[in-house]
Amino acid sequence: MTAERSPFPGPRPESAAVRTEGREVSAPGDVPRDNRAPDLETEWSRAVKAIGEAAEICLACHIRPDGDALGSMLAVAQALRVRGAADRPPGSAPPRVIASFGELPLRIPRILRFLPGTDLLTPPDAVPGRPQVMMTFDAASADRLGMLEANAARAGELIVLDHHVSNTSFGTVNLIDPAAAATAVLAHELIGRLGVPVSRDIALGLYAGLVTDTGSFRYSNTSPGVHLLAARLLETGIDPGGVAHELWDRAPFGFLGLLSAVLGRAQLEPAGPGRCGLVWTTVTRADRAAHGLPFEAAESVIDVLRRTDEADVAVVLKEDDDGLWQVSARAKGAADVGRACVALGGGGHPKAAGFTAVGPAADVMAALRQQLAAP
Ligand code: AMP
Ligand code: MN
Ligand code: MN
Repeated sequence: MTAERSPFPGPRPESAAVRTEGREVSAPGDVPRDNRAPDLETEWSRAVKAIGEAAEICLACHIRPDGDALGSMLAVAQALRVRGAADRPPGSAPPRVIASFGELPLRIPRILRFLPGTDLLTPPDAVPGRPQVMMTFDAASADRLGMLEANAARAGELIVLDHHVSNTSFGTVNLIDPAAAATAVLAHELIGRLGVPVSRDIALGLYAGLVTDTGSFRYSNTSPGVHLLAARLLETGIDPGGVAHELWDRAPFGFLGLLSAVLGRAQLEPAGPGRCGLVWTTVTRADRAAHGLPFEAAESVIDVLRRTDEADVAVVLKEDDDGLWQVSARAKGAADVGRACVALGGGGHPKAAGFTAVGPAADVMAALRQQLAAP
């Protein structure tokens, strides 16, 4: 599970040996926080207390993790290991930190293998069944934890760290802030509150989350606070060009063939009365097999489709290896794909959301169209 190759050559601090001087460390406390509900303050205190007292902390991010889910979790995993080494009285054991996500085999998407700490991941069947303290990342509901949903249900304390407005507050401590551009913003705040300096390795995970969920600072969730946080993270010495290359600027040659096929059959449905313009396509298992590509190769297709001027909504139906449609939807303008996807059993944000479906693609699209047209 180690990186195939790293775009970040050169020495990296070990997880337990963060340097505290020079450019290696940023100060988490000096990034302004966005406005938020005052009762979140109580939740922060409860989270910090539970983490401080725990002998064992299990971390889980949502299945089919993206840069925000995995990056935030690995950043916190590394911070907890540093804290464990530093804060305990001499002779006492540091807390056990276990990080995972609920899929077997535990397959890290190729574009995320550059993240420091992936080698520390534990397969979900080795995660304690009743964790003393469990923390979830970027998961809007318990079912997004896959195999680890049952572990979360039995955890002594369940801390939910997330920024989805659709979050079901399934934790005993809910650190949910829909104003946060990414879970990474909340992970950064947690690390600051735990008093752990942000090393370059920690910053890389947080930065991956921030750029993933803001589309490299292009989406409307890009605030001054986002840029300030990015600046702090870059001060640790991470290479933004290297991160962008890993996340978006590389693909095997077969991807060109896949893109050609799936874009070639994209359909544009013009806006009618009470409807928004819609563009959609499918990426089937057969498409991927024809070009020898894994499921994750389908993930970036939506970024091309959503450029379509004539469409307010873009949708890609991606067939996974089990034959299920993993649907990605994006909106610009007034359409709220988050609401539509929640109604279809999924989740997400008003402008970026998804759901899982079975059956003919035309039927899935009909159901989605109906939800988009609902008052
Ligand atoms: P994606 O299209 O996979 O990039 O996901 C966009 C947003 O929708 C993210 O916030 C995801 O967490 C959410 N999302 C995607 N698929 C699902 C699903 N099957 N169930 C719940 N939320 C989803
Ligand atoms: Mn996510
Ligand atoms: Mn996110």
